[in-house]
Amino acid sequence: MPEGDTVWLTARRLHEALAGRVLTRSDVRVPRYATTNLAGAAVAEAVARGKHLLIRVEGGITVHTHLRMDGSWRIRPAGDRIPPSHRIRLVLSNDTWQAVGYQLGIVEILPTAREASVVGHLGPDLLGPDWDPAEAARRLRAAPARAVGEALLDQRNLAGIGNLYKAEVLFLRGVDPWRPVGEVADLDALVGLAQRLMGANKERFGQVTTGVRRPGEQTWVYGRAGRPCRRCGTPVRSADQGGETGERVTYWCPRCQS
Ligand SMILES: [Zn+2]
Repeated sequence: MPEGDTVWLTARRLHEALAGRVLTRSDVRVPRYATTNLAGAAVAEAVARGKHLLIRVEGGITVHTHLRMDGSWRIRPAGDRIPPSHRIRLVLSNDTWQAVGYQLGIVEILPTAREASVVGHLGPDLLGPDWDPAEAARRLRAAPARAVGEALLDQRNLAGIGNLYKAEVLFLRGVDPWRPVGEVADLDALVGLAQRLMGANKERFGQVTTGVRRPGEQTWVYGRAGRPCRRCGTPVRSADQGGETGERVTYWCPRCQS
């Protein structure tokens, strides 16, 4: 599942292709918006808010999308032929580029003034201009009995983090994913590390927390169930824990994390 850094970079690419240019075509392949036509309007900007993407169009319209499990955007020159696909949910074109959204989990069009109805519940955005680690820690602390691995994935606490960064941050801080939030000594350091790891990866697609880009060596514990911990050699464990669909499996080292 794409995490906040992937969404941040996607928003930047969409912004570069669409912002300041007039749409020549819009094709929303969602029944509710089948007749919506944004052609003739200029795109003001594309921004990420947590894992949500907001494309703001002049006239006070926002196109809100979410990648969910398998969504992606591809940006192609305006003249390219896009192969037909039932996976296409949204096409936004201008004279130079066409942005094609595949398998988007959410596609909705709403007044920009009402964006809060779709992203207002989110906690501080790890990659946003308003990132506020103290507020993120405060929200986490509000439910002290909750398992920290589950609480970190709750986008109302902090927005943008997903399963990979959650597992990696908890490993690097030596915290067991099932430890109650109230027993985690330094939540500020925990969320601060999450922000730094995501920030370090946001400029490119691909997630590396070990500092090693070689395939198979990019993470400490995420995706490494049964393989030896890179620090102590103990087999990495995995088990189901709360989270959105597809984010339920967590990974940890039972020796390095307590
Ligand atoms: Zn270990």
